[in-house]
Amino acid sequence: MSTIFAKIIAGEIPADFLHEDEQCVVIRDIQPQAPVHLLVIPRKPIPKLAEADPADQALLGHLLLVARQMAHEHGIGDAFRTVINSGAGVGQTVFHLHVHVMGGHRASEQSLNS
Ligand code: 5GP
Repeated sequence: MSTIFAKIIAGEIPADFLHEDEQCVVIRDIQPQAPVHLLVIPRKPIPKLAEADPADQALLGHLLLVARQMAHEHGIGDAFRTVINSGAGVGQTVFHLHVHVMGGHRASEQSLNS
């Protein structure tokens, strides 16, 4: 079944892409947990990190480098948090792998789960 992120990537649901390349897109989280809260989403629909495999090594590295670039471009490059929830038991709600990038206030104030 297609997730909301697959629909956003396919253009079926309109979204403002802050970045896009052949491997991923970046959108703002609809329910931000920090002043800057972005989602780096691979085009490949890996349901969760636990289901990634060694062939995804370069893609996973790319996602983190895009997270770094986005943090820099959005003014939080000096202090930001990246979170990948893998599994409903830790709060994953959209089963299409994504990296949360959060910053803009003290890291201790930020949620670990979203
Ligand atoms: P998870 O809990 O799976 O790690 O994170 C999913 C995130 O996706 C949540 O922070 C939630 O606010 C965000 N989200 C869910 N639906 C949408 C949507 O339609 N648009 C955007 N931009 N974010 C969404």
